[in-house]
Amino acid sequence: MDGRGMPIDVIYIAGAPRSGTTILSQLLGELPGLFNVGEARFLWRQVLSSGRCGCGTRLIACDFWREVLTDSPVPSGDDRTRTLAAAALTHSRLRTLPWELVVRRLGGSLPRALREHAAATIAVYHAAAAAAHASAIVDASKSPSFAYALTASEGVRLHVVHVVRDPRAVVHSWLRSQSGASARVRGRGVLYSALKWSAWNVLTELIVRPSAATYARLRYEDVARAPAALLSHIAPLASQAGPGGRIGLLEGETSVVELSTNHTVFGNGQRFISGPVRVEPDEEWRVAMSRRARATVIAFTWPLLRRYGFNGRDLRRIAL
Ligand SMILES: [Zn+2]
Repeated sequence: MDGRGMPIDVIYIAGAPRSGTTILSQLLGELPGLFNVGEARFLWRQVLSSGRCGCGTRLIACDFWREVLTDSPVPSGDDRTRTLAAAALTHSRLRTLPWELVVRRLGGSLPRALREHAAATIAVYHAAAAAAHASAIVDASKSPSFAYALTASEGVRLHVVHVVRDPRAVVHSWLRSQSGASARVRGRGVLYSALKWSAWNVLTELIVRPSAATYARLRYEDVARAPAALLSHIAPLASQAGPGGRIGLLEGETSVVELSTNHTVFGNGQRFISGPVRVEPDEEWRVAMSRRARATVIAFTWPLLRRYGFNGRDLRRIAL
């Protein structure tokens, strides 16, 4: 089926990087009727660079993706190469697009390369759902601009799950990944990271939420504490998961889930892990982050910090 047929339902996970989107997509992928493709916006770059599938093999050697990419109506021959290259290049465009959209008051048309990237991805959603016998796709792409490009395209119905995580945890995670940098660079990084967290979340609310078919917001911390209750946070999605859809816990456990092998095209290293996995919030920032860094993050994320319930009172309750 292509973009001109029935639209495909896609559960799109939006939110700032390091907000737990990979594990959330894996949990959703365990529900009957849903197929998790990981971060689909990186598919073409992964195909061109021989990246790995979640099942561990090269994407181009994975039986599932070979079938999907052969069957999907992505152009063939030279056109195919051009489309793949254009789609891979739109990543730099995705970074500046939100600001263009805001400036144009959401009225302007999308750049052609981005329209083609979205159309090619939607064709893949249809082919992947057919190959996996799924009724809906889970895409953990996160990017607000890519979500907007999808909602402006034919052939897809976007159900946005906006996952938010305490900005102190997110900033700490970003800084941890730059631990080799000097103290001065890291100091600057706190402010930059706090603003980046705000920007991703503001843009998700400003440009993605109004154009989505459905929108639900959940906190990573709530999911990580009680993964089995995931569907109660996103009730509109329960129907997509079909009757009896629920996250299975290991017997006698409250936070150990059994994850299947997946075919995600991109995401963090968590996606390569299958079998019993303990899901719990990573709260290292509470002991490892300086008071000054915490204060900076709070000062520059305050309105959203409150809006999402990461205020002082709530955190004291959690700390008990
Ligand atoms: Zn695979």
